[in-house]
Amino acid sequence: MADHAESTETSGKANIGVVGLAVMGSNLARNLASREGNTVAVYNRSPERTDVLMKEHGDAGFIASKSIEDFVASLSKPRTAIIMVQAGKGTDAVIGQLADLFEEGDIIVDGGNANFHDTIRREHELRERNLNFVGTGISGGEEGALKGPSIMPGGSAEAWETLGPILRSIAAVAEGEPCVTHIGTDGAGHFVKMIHNGIEYADMQLIAESYDLLRHIGGHDPDAIAEVFGEWNKGELESYLIEITAEVLKQKDAKTGKPLVDVIVDEAGSKGTGVWTVQNSVGLGVPVGGIAEAVFARAVSSKPDQRAAVKKTLKNRPTVQEAGEGFEDDVQKALYASKIIAYAQGFDAIIAGAKEYDWSIDKGAVAKIWRGGCIIRAQFLNRIVDAYENDASIATLLEDEYFAKAIADGEDAWRRIVAKASLSGIPVPGFASALSYYDSLAAERLPASLIQGQRDFFGAHTYKRIDSDKVFHTLWSDDRSEIETEPSTH
Ligand code: NAP
Repeated sequence: MADHAESTETSGKANIGVVGLAVMGSNLARNLASREGNTVAVYNRSPERTDVLMKEHGDAGFIASKSIEDFVASLSKPRTAIIMVQAGKGTDAVIGQLADLFEEGDIIVDGGNANFHDTIRREHELRERNLNFVGTGISGGEEGALKGPSIMPGGSAEAWETLGPILRSIAAVAEGEPCVTHIGTDGAGHFVKMIHNGIEYADMQLIAESYDLLRHIGGHDPDAIAEVFGEWNKGELESYLIEITAEVLKQKDAKTGKPLVDVIVDEAGSKGTGVWTVQNSVGLGVPVGGIAEAVFARAVSSKPDQRAAVKKTLKNRPTVQEAGEGFEDDVQKALYASKIIAYAQGFDAIIAGAKEYDWSIDKGAVAKIWRGGCIIRAQFLNRIVDAYENDASIATLLEDEYFAKAIADGEDAWRRIVAKASLSGIPVPGFASALSYYDSLAAERLPASLIQGQRDFFGAHTYKRIDSDKVFHTLWSDDRSEIETEPSTH
């Protein structure tokens, strides 16, 4: 590793630096170093991690430093450093150190899983100091970081000029195009990464529900279900998540010989980005039921005491229905329709976030960069690209001709599956909520009129009439006559 003297000698040589050399940072640094034109400076708070990287991959040509001062000195101008440390306090600590040493026009990039609200705050603070701050979503886990992730950078257009070519050099490539685009200013990148993760939750939940149905109504064992998923992976459902689902289902436990899926405790964990998606979408008034149900399903699974308590009270469970002819095809269609709904909701959240935070986000470009490198990568995203290329102003993806037809083609199967699951006592919160969402959008009249009546009754919240643009209130506790009024402000 470079000592101080060596660092001075190599001063200004690296076009990019990485701070934080745990799994993600090391892999990203190796990815950067493997691309022509990059010289990579590396630094980690504890020198041991740097030593390990240099010992195992020193031939990658890294410029390693033991102090943050030497690290900064080893970067060429404009200095550009990617932080890959523990999100939250760790990120703030490193930003503080770099900001004290960086000069006007230099670029600090946070590639961790930051909350986009923090990214907005950090960008504004650093802009005051004439520094560029770029919050960047990076998806694809360890392997993506090493071989090519999907990258979602925010920050200024000025920073993107320097950073763009570097990030393009390491991103995954899908259909000849690097999976990176400048998403928008300040927190836009981390916002879109958050929505990506929310959609990932929904996609996984829907796949898990499909498995459960194939297992308990279809009567298939995990090996057979792996084959079904393998087949689905050749069609419109082709995706990384379907592919790995088949792999997980095929896996046998070495200790017992049973399918691994039967040995794993059925309590799903989470790290929080799904919850952030739901919290923020609720705040923005966007119904993201598919993502919310996926977050809730994990939460329900992780309540062993409540699950045990309810099981104790049970006398009878419903009889599991016959699968009947074409059951697997029905599940496939229900999965596809529900998946379309989940993605439509996710893109609604992106549209609402862009409006709220004043970002100009190209939805088609987002769908494009999710086609490779990230967890939700799939052929399907090309259909979203097409939809927004046809008409970027559609009110919902469901308005697009392809998606409208896909839903219409799957609708009967979708209803049969939700009904059969319900009669069998098999939980399908993802499928059922997606179908209810669709039916809500499709309904001629919704019972929301009754809710408006209730609200007016107890809180004088007022209502509009179908035959007028004005606002009304009924004098419920008086003679129940109707008066024209101002909209309620409470
Ligand atoms: P991590 O376990 O989240 O963090 C460990 C790293 O943070 C170490 O390098 C540690 O330095 C450093 N660190 C913590 N506090 C610090 C502080 N106050 N000052 C300086 N350095 C500090 O590492 P990781 O798993 O590689 O993840 C890095 C980032 O990527 C995180 O934000 C994580 O959420 C994100 N991530 C993303 C994905 C993905 O798929 N996109 C997957 C995993 C992680 P020491 O060695 O000195 O302790």
